[in-house]
Amino acid sequence: MTTKRVIVIGAGAGGMMAAGRAAELGANVLLLEKTTSPGNKILISGKTRCNLTNIKELDDFISMYGPNGHFLHSAFHRFFRDDLLAFLRRYGVETKSERGGRVFPASDDARDVVEAFEQYMADHGVQSRTDTGATGIQIDKGRVIGVQTEKGVLPAVAIVLATGGASYPETGSTGDGYRLAAALGHTITKLRPALVPLVVHEVPRAKSMQGVSLRNVRLTAYQCPADEINPSMTPTKDCGRGISGKQAPWPIIESRMGEMMITHFGIGGPITLLMGLAVVDALENSPVSVSIDLKPALDEKQLRQRLQRDFDRYGKRSYRNILKGLLPQKMVDPFVEMTAIPPDKRSHEIDAEERERLLRLLKSLRFNIKAPLPMASAMVTAGGVSLEEIEPRSMASRLIEGLYFCGEVMDLDGDTGGYNLQAAFSTGYVAGESAATRATSS
Ligand SMILES: Cc1cc2nc3c(=O)[nH]c(=O)nc-3n(C[C@H](O)[C@H](O)[C@H](O)COP(=O)(O)OP(=O)(O)OC[C@H]3O[C@@H](n4cnc5c(N)ncnc54)[C@H](O)[C@@H]3O)c2cc1C
Repeated sequence: MTTKRVIVIGAGAGGMMAAGRAAELGANVLLLEKTTSPGNKILISGKTRCNLTNIKELDDFISMYGPNGHFLHSAFHRFFRDDLLAFLRRYGVETKSERGGRVFPASDDARDVVEAFEQYMADHGVQSRTDTGATGIQIDKGRVIGVQTEKGVLPAVAIVLATGGASYPETGSTGDGYRLAAALGHTITKLRPALVPLVVHEVPRAKSMQGVSLRNVRLTAYQCPADEINPSMTPTKDCGRGISGKQAPWPIIESRMGEMMITHFGIGGPITLLMGLAVVDALENSPVSVSIDLKPALDEKQLRQRLQRDFDRYGKRSYRNILKGLLPQKMVDPFVEMTAIPPDKRSHEIDAEERERLLRLLKSLRFNIKAPLPMASAMVTAGGVSLEEIEPRSMASRLIEGLYFCGEVMDLDGDTGGYNLQAAFSTGYVAGESAATRATSS
């Protein structure tokens, strides 16, 4: 019996789905998890609320994974959002959608999702072993025969590699899958942090504004040093992964309007994370800088008029007081310093050149980007097992018979919004079916 077993390595989103589905189809399934409990990353996802998918239509959904997204077509045709939601409903998990089409459990509790998968696996007799890390995959004549663990070899006819990425290693996702697959001859495309905050060169400046949360600002990344940015090029529309429309003109890398934060090391928050990977890739070529338009609703002319009006109307007010009406409190003193205008100067004494200096800074607060935060702080790992070596309809390895992949271990990463979990669930479902077919027919 055990020789016809399916072994799933990794009890994350993809692995639990694969194990449950393979068992549901009649396979004898063993799920190995190296930590002491399953679903650690699901539990911290969406700030513990678990943004499990998105209501976007299929084509738009797929565009959220960039150029590799097309690989997911077959998996999504087999098992997509509505299937996932129906599955969760069967296990008592109702869901709701929020801003940006993000879908969460109605309870706002990621534990409900993990418990649903645990129940699914229990219902179909999946055996699981926690505290059991896979250290190698054994093959004979080009096909899998077993999984090596610290406690011995476990025979299997089909193996699903569901070890996740290399970010947030405390959840158990330490990049083992890349090493296991590479040892079998699989190509691992360059691993990079994605959905990651960015470190700037001007750390003291960032620190002086640390903790500022900015809403409705436009963040634009440029492939040039900050002092070479031409702010008149700043797009008025978003451009970047998942946004259809014209490619941004060089040297613009991406531009997004929304919410971001200034931190003690640089910049973070939603639009920064979305831009993270494009910036990481661009840093390979030449310097990258960002420009924050703090007043994107007003063009230069309109902002000039607004400043002139404020300065005239409140002529007796100090420059610092005027800034308080224009900026979050924590940015007032840094702006005084950066514009080099005395804070107590009366508004009516501020000359045209000084007003232009303020205007330029409001429209283009700049930082030179040094690096992303390390992989451990990224939400997702970009890169992984090359998709050219995986059959998209079955998730089977094209190199090793009986080996299947799912989830983040593959060269796939999506934007924030529920795309990464949906990819893991869908590819897990397909990998589980394929592994079961092999095990039950061999
Ligand atoms: C803070 C944070 C928040 C996130 N929020 C969201 C969100 O709201 N929505 C969304 O779509 N995505 C989110 N993501 C991304 C998403 O969680 C992952 O992309 C997804 O969980 C990947 O699923 P996976 O099954 O491929 O891998 P994982 O969920 O990482 O699971 C891999 C499992 O394999 C185990 N493992 C690793 N090596 C071995 C080994 N050698 N032997 C045995 N077991 C092993 C690990 O311990 C782990 O349990 C978030 C990520 C982070 C870090």
